Amino acid sequence: MYSQETIQSLNIKRNILLNPGPSTTTDTVKMAQVVPDICPREAEFAGMMKDLRQQLVQIVHGDLEKYTSVLFCGSGTMNIDVCLNSLLPKDKKALIINNGAYSTRAVEICEYYGLPHIDLRFPVNELPDLRIVEQTLEANPDIALVHTTHHETGTGLLNPIREIGALAHQYGAIFTVDTTSTYAMRPIHIEEDQIDFCMASAQKGLMAMTGLSFVVGNRAAIEQSRFYPKRSYYCNLYLQYDFFERTGEMHFTPPVQTIYATRQALKEYFAEGEQAKWARHTRVFEAIHEGLAVLGFKSYLPKEIQSGLVVSALYPDDPNWNFAKVHDYCYQRGFTIYPGKISTTNTFRLCALGAIDVQDIRDFFVVLEAALCANGIAVPVQYKE
Ligand SMILES: *Cc1c(COP(=O)(O)O)cnc(C)c1O
Repeated sequence: MYSQETIQSLNIKRNILLNPGPSTTTDTVKMAQVVPDICPREAEFAGMMKDLRQQLVQIVHGDLEKYTSVLFCGSGTMNIDVCLNSLLPKDKKALIINNGAYSTRAVEICEYYGLPHIDLRFPVNELPDLRIVEQTLEANPDIALVHTTHHETGTGLLNPIREIGALAHQYGAIFTVDTTSTYAMRPIHIEEDQIDFCMASAQKGLMAMTGLSFVVGNRAAIEQSRFYPKRSYYCNLYLQYDFFERTGEMHFTPPVQTIYATRQALKEYFAEGEQAKWARHTRVFEAIHEGLAVLGFKSYLPKEIQSGLVVSALYPDDPNWNFAKVHDYCYQRGFTIYPGKISTTNTFRLCALGAIDVQDIRDFFVVLEAALCANGIAVPVQYKE
């Protein structure tokens, strides 16, 4: 561990990432990666991973007897892949409740593996109709797995996972939820939220580095999955779980330095506290809305269905509007903004992830306003209707 003084003396440039992850990290997390070389097969390293696995379960308030976490070396999409290919029994079907880009990704994973599935689509700017979800479960008794995305990061929409999970369980299916963009930000209670499996990667809510992803889920269901078809080698949940349980290690080479950073990030997570951290993200989110409103930007979704973490703003109807130019102006000044992910509407996104606070957002809006002026875009921005 480096001392505060040493870290400060390095004067690492602080960029404000308003993209939906990786997020802005603290210098202490960055520097936690700089460690003496170690072979990850040493007992010292395995001991560190044991604590880390438990803490990942504790973040979603899971009972350590009933829930466990399994780590993978990869980005967040790997977890969706792992859960879908590993947790579907033979001759059963997956139901994907799809109202956004990340659930569409889950559908694509089913397609790639040739998994029987139903792609139950809803508009990307609306909550899913739970009556249709129930009718689908009722009409298809072979559905063994229901999957959705907690927070559709492409729009900022928050799905009603507790209600969907209750329906899944009522019809005897397990419920897997992509919580990549809510985990360690919005408080989640795995059991009360009716989740069997959730997932994330270290570079989003945890504010650590890229390269470590993890699934938190029901131990008995993982053990049961041992008898399901093996559809992947590297991405099989049971195989990785079993190796961890027997040896305390990851089956294949772990992302060593990222794990050190994650350990430090977890320390900082628990020091800040779940409620205080969520309150900070909330005030950052409110400051984003406020700043956009002052400049006249409209947001894509009604606020009631937003996650509180991502704001999608509509492109103004101005002949001089040019996202790339506005982006570059901000980027050169240390602020990263991000394009939207909606095929039918032009949007850009500002996100409340990471080690940032309200003052960073205020500083950003000064720069954004200057970017608009520098490009001859009218302020407040204009829309046709
Ligand atoms: C970021 C994210 C992912 C993972 O994306 P990667 O590029 O693979 O890290 C998955 N689901 C959601 C909802 C996300 O926001």
